[in-house]
Amino acid sequence: MRPTISFDARACLDVDPFEGDRDQDVLVRSDKIILPRKDHNCLICDGTARKATWCRARSEVDRDLGMAMTFYFCTSCCEAQAASWTDQGMSLTERYSIGCRLRGELPDVAA
Ligand SMILES: [Zn+2]
Repeated sequence: MRPTISFDARACLDVDPFEGDRDQDVLVRSDKIILPRKDHNCLICDGTARKATWCRARSEVDRDLGMAMTFYFCTSCCEAQAASWTDQGMSLTERYSIGCRLRGELPDVAA
């Protein structure tokens, strides 16, 4: 049985998680909502994108480094990404600040 999805997958995938953040030459190979087979670290909140829960997985190749990478986003951060089209990114900002606190970084001050 597949778990029920709690967010709008299309709206979530429409969010570019690295918007304006990087200038590397990056090729997105796949970007989709999946049920991972094992736990992964969530890129946004630094929590766990748990196995068998709906998560976003984005695979990229950094053409400068010649390196392939996959980034995962947990269910709560997927919900926040999907909601960012209607809440001015408030939930997403909250998720990012959780990650900053866990990593001991200062959160970005909203411009
Ligand atoms: Zn997360």
